[in-house]
Amino acid sequence: MTMAALKPIMADMPAPSEQSCAVLLPLPLRGAYDYALPEGVRPQRGLIVRAPLGKREVLGVVWGKSENAIAPEKIRMCAPVMPLRCLPERLCDFIDWVANYTLSPPGQVLAQAMRAAAAFDPEMPRKALIKSGVAPPKLTPARSRVLDLMADGLARGVNEISELADAGVGVVKGLAETGALRWITLPEFPRLQAPDENATHVKLSPAQAQASTQLRAAVRLREFSTHLLDGVTGSGKTETYFEAIAEALVQNKQALILLPEIALTVQFLNRFAERFGTRPAEWHSDMTMKERKRVYRAVLSGEARVVAGARSALFLPFSKLGLIVVDEEHEQAYKQEEGVIYHARDMAVVRARLENCPIVLSSATPSLETYVNAKSGRYQWLKLSARHGAAELPEVRLVDMRAEESEPGKFISPSLRAAITSTLLAGEQVLLFLNRRGYAPLTLCAACGHKETCKNCSAWLVEHRYRKRLVCHHCAYEVPMPKTCPQCHEEESFIACGPGVERVEEEFRASYPEARVAVASSDTLAGPAEAQAAINAMARGEIDVLIGTQIVAKGHHFPLLTLAGIIDADLGGGAGDPRAAERSFQLLHQVSGRSGRGERPGQVLIQTRNPEDPVMQALAAHSRDAFLEEEARLRDRMSQPPFGRLAAIILSGADAATVQEAGRALAKAAPRAKGVMVWGPAPAFYQMLRGRTRERLLVQAEKSVNVQAYLRAWLETVKIASSVRLAVDIDPVSFF
Ligand code: ADP
Ligand code: ZN
Repeated sequence: MTMAALKPIMADMPAPSEQSCAVLLPLPLRGAYDYALPEGVRPQRGLIVRAPLGKREVLGVVWGKSENAIAPEKIRMCAPVMPLRCLPERLCDFIDWVANYTLSPPGQVLAQAMRAAAAFDPEMPRKALIKSGVAPPKLTPARSRVLDLMADGLARGVNEISELADAGVGVVKGLAETGALRWITLPEFPRLQAPDENATHVKLSPAQAQASTQLRAAVRLREFSTHLLDGVTGSGKTETYFEAIAEALVQNKQALILLPEIALTVQFLNRFAERFGTRPAEWHSDMTMKERKRVYRAVLSGEARVVAGARSALFLPFSKLGLIVVDEEHEQAYKQEEGVIYHARDMAVVRARLENCPIVLSSATPSLETYVNAKSGRYQWLKLSARHGAAELPEVRLVDMRAEESEPGKFISPSLRAAITSTLLAGEQVLLFLNRRGYAPLTLCAACGHKETCKNCSAWLVEHRYRKRLVCHHCAYEVPMPKTCPQCHEEESFIACGPGVERVEEEFRASYPEARVAVASSDTLAGPAEAQAAINAMARGEIDVLIGTQIVAKGHHFPLLTLAGIIDADLGGGAGDPRAAERSFQLLHQVSGRSGRGERPGQVLIQTRNPEDPVMQALAAHSRDAFLEEEARLRDRMSQPPFGRLAAIILSGADAATVQEAGRALAKAAPRAKGVMVWGPAPAFYQMLRGRTRERLLVQAEKSVNVQAYLRAWLETVKIASSVRLAVDIDPVSFF
């Protein structure tokens, strides 16, 4: 391998000190390390090198001038990868920025940008065959089939030919020996097909045309600007930002579309292909190393013109980025909660600024942060206020569950039942939404009240009736459903309390045995493929009713769906979570937005015990902005984001006493500062998670305070036991 080939060079060469430089390694180290570069290699920022670390050799990136922290005779030599490759300098700047903002070691942030280490290996060319024009001395039926196939002049691998022509590998190789087929060398990967901005043209509505004209102008300007594309569900936001992407293609620039992972579906990719003649390059957690390598290289070389990806795509090495789109910008899925804790939407705005290109934030329910920025004029506000074509917004009705006559253990109210019946009779589709996986949220012994808890987490186990198991929704722990109560030994005594999607399905099937039903749950245990299959069946009209958790809320287009029923709208209030109301509104609004997207008008029934709640009122009245205004006023008064700053410190470890002690020591050392309050330590909501005890501290600061500087000064003074992990979460969105 090449590594071996490079080693002698590294060993033989002396280390000239003027050639030393700082190399950042993709590891959670404090900073960059000094290395020497071989003579003649310019220490350019971004240059990818292989560097010795202890007995290993790791990839690293030349980051800047050496700090001269190491004596010249001790400095070790690194070597650039061959052929020479560089991360774009603006990506290096972005990595520094993110590290600084999130208080993460820069190497740990760099690791986000180096998720395809194999991309720096030398290319492995492929051998393929093409037709030569020479006739073989002898023709058999199998040989004829091969030559017929190859008559089109395309190059193919041996196995591919063998399969397509239904001929043995020996036959194919034999033809190569006769000279009828000729060996050639192809690049490691087939070229990506470039999207064509003119593949199809849609006729835009006047509002869409106006918004897309502005976006196109922004792309042409090649300057940083932020745009909120604010349109009701089904108004054609996707169609509109596709125009901006078309303009980036015209300008010979690259474009990045960020999607919440679960929205990165075949439907989306195909829709892109309909507009641009080919799918975009993809980037998400579910790719093989080979696919990663291919896309990573194509992004670096500029060959990949449009990338659709989950939040990690933000760290790809674009060489000529001309546009970023963040679809469903309000989605919590953009927050990475582990390792480097960052919000991809916010960091996308930063990247656009550093790349000096426009960014489009798209949503029907913008986050309060974005709404406030649009209102103040910091972001340009593009509105699409009507659904495309004949579709109207659905009628929303609140069902007051205190007034409904429901039997205990039943969760579909008479009002909702009546609406379901008439919808099904009309041959239309129904969506029932409940954001709870499994059969019931709580399962307890009717005799003694015992509840089974997870052995790793402070959470109750949830019954999954199909699988006859009790499952922890936070870790992989599960047990068979116990036949007798482990505490009082009563037999068959466990009863279900409250509804989960499985239980709603059971109730529904009992009432409508004829209807075709499927459940789509974000249940990682059943596998996302199953949920996707249910969603596809719904879109094709093969089922009448879809019952699901939040996985059904996002972005799907079901033309025959005219009734959305929300089983329990009162879920979603989080203890001490300032964004609980906002999130609840967004989710319910998204679910409502699935109804009536086609030609027939839709309705939404929301079952609630709090019809007076501002969230419910805003949903019923379609008064989103009034709701956001009220939220903004409340948050402003409480100095909550975006009017104040928050940062959380999460301590975790296997030993509860050590973690608690660390929390107390940390709190005691908190510096006093004007406009800063420190709360805690307090046990996290799930005090035990995956076997680790967790304590939280919360810093609340005025907008003018530099929270990072405050935290740095604070954390430097305290020594935490090495068995305790400390994580800093700037702008937390989760308070568990
Ligand atoms: P949003 O992203 O705002 O929810 P979409 O872009 O998904 O809206 O559009 C909703 C539906 O309307 C889609 O099926 C889309 O293809 C269709 N649509 C939107 N705008 C147009 C247009 N100008 N011409 C044809 N179809 C359109
Ligand atoms: Zn658990």
